[in-house]
Amino acid sequence: MSAPHLIWFRNDLRLADQAAVVAAATAGPVVALFVLDDETPGAWRMGAAQRWWLHYSLAALAADLAARGGTLLLRRGPAGEVVPQVAAAIDAAGVHALRHYEPWAKAQDTAVAAMLGGRFKLHDGAFLAPPGTVQTGTGGRYRIFTPYWRRLLEQMPPARPLPEPALTFADTPVGDALDDWQLLPTKPDWATGFDVWTPGETGAADAVQRFLRVARHYDTGRNLPSKQGSSRLSPHLALGEISVNAVWHAVADAVPATEAEPYLRELGWRDFAANILDQFPDHGDVPGRAIFDRFGFRDDPLGFEAWAQGRTGYPIVDAGMRQLWATGWMHNRVRMIAASFLVKHLLVDWRIGERWFWDCLVDADLGANSLGWQWVMGSGVDSSPFNRVFAPVSQSAKFDAAGYIREWVPELARLGDGDIHAPWEAEPMMLRAAGVTLGRTYPRPIIGHAEGRARALAAYAKAAA
Ligand SMILES: Cc1cc2nc3c(=O)[nH]c(=O)nc-3n(C[C@H](O)[C@H](O)[C@H](O)COP(=O)(O)OP(=O)(O)OC[C@H]3O[C@@H](n4cnc5c(N)ncnc54)[C@H](O)[C@@H]3O)c2cc1C
Repeated sequence: MSAPHLIWFRNDLRLADQAAVVAAATAGPVVALFVLDDETPGAWRMGAAQRWWLHYSLAALAADLAARGGTLLLRRGPAGEVVPQVAAAIDAAGVHALRHYEPWAKAQDTAVAAMLGGRFKLHDGAFLAPPGTVQTGTGGRYRIFTPYWRRLLEQMPPARPLPEPALTFADTPVGDALDDWQLLPTKPDWATGFDVWTPGETGAADAVQRFLRVARHYDTGRNLPSKQGSSRLSPHLALGEISVNAVWHAVADAVPATEAEPYLRELGWRDFAANILDQFPDHGDVPGRAIFDRFGFRDDPLGFEAWAQGRTGYPIVDAGMRQLWATGWMHNRVRMIAASFLVKHLLVDWRIGERWFWDCLVDADLGANSLGWQWVMGSGVDSSPFNRVFAPVSQSAKFDAAGYIREWVPELARLGDGDIHAPWEAEPMMLRAAGVTLGRTYPRPIIGHAEGRARALAAYAKAAA
């Protein structure tokens, strides 16, 4: 048998349309490896909710490999050391991985390349267009989405998905047992509500099929948190259980171009987030605009706790934060409203909210998360203006969130559609009839909207002075 080739899986846990799998399988027998590296990412080690996802995703990949006669080798430690060690142990002729753009992925690549030299091959395939390849007319990089998207579109459609290659397997050394990694919560088990998800490549393909049934109506449906109007593919895409190219073509083939465009554009935002992170590796910590270095954030642990636990007294914010805790995911519009409430109404540092999301989201992605928080804060290189303070009540009414609030804030479920967005404005009689006692069964708002907005604008004016 010829010398084996190592496939090093990272956030690309799939066999279909995976260029590293194709390259290794074409070259000879393979060994499949995943390394749990909690050291190289430092403070950005994978959060708790995504570790839950990772457990089941690895189990699914291992089962898919077993069905083809192979094994998934699990090892733990700094990937820059572990990958070369495994390569040496199996006497690998080549090591293949997809290219990723988080700062720790780049550090891993540098370390592996230093040990393996030309035997280490990085392949593109995690994005529609690799960061750095969408360039301005003068060869520069984009920092603003709209011109970036226009230019990206000129390079689209992406390549059609690669067929899964036939795999032959070399002897695989003994690795760790997945259960020993303790990726799942023990006591208390906060993930009981995560059963709405099916991690793994098959779960991702099923999620695409489900989305195709409503994809024509995405442009309106995506803004309604009580409907399943968006694809909910983000956790699958974050760990690479399906390629973004495959999602693009599935939607573009099934839906007329004008109706597909709003969705394809969101896939463009995913690429854009990686493009920004590639240019600003510390985008998760450092504001894109210098004024925010001297911004007067408040130290408000009680406010933060009320926000994180869904007890702010604003039903739309509380519904979102409870959905996040219960399922590891939050609707995009509600992410914007909830994030805006924390950083503007409460004036809590965006990095604190960003880290809470990092730990709670099954789709946690450093590029998208830092872009989202910096966009809402107004601190990013591409972001909404600071004076755009989301008004939680009118947003809630506008996007028809009554059903969403009833689901996630059940103590308000019996309030009518007119009262549920702002229970403190309801007639006492209506509150009584719905079994709501403000301050007891449901909190009063922890800050008034006008007061919060005025305080935020004053803080900005002070920083700008
Ligand atoms: C404060 C904040 C934090 C966020 N953190 C994350 C995060 O950690 N991980 C993450 O994947 N998304 C994040 N987003 C972006 C967005 O909320 C989610 O991608 C989206 O809600 C996922 O749901 P979906 O799969 O149904 O999206 P759809 O509407 O179906 O969109 C399709 C895909 O496009 C991508 N996408 C959509 N919107 C964005 C965006 N604004 N930025 C980057 N990619 C996008 C996602 O991969 C998504 O699965 C964040 C947004 C905000 C405002």
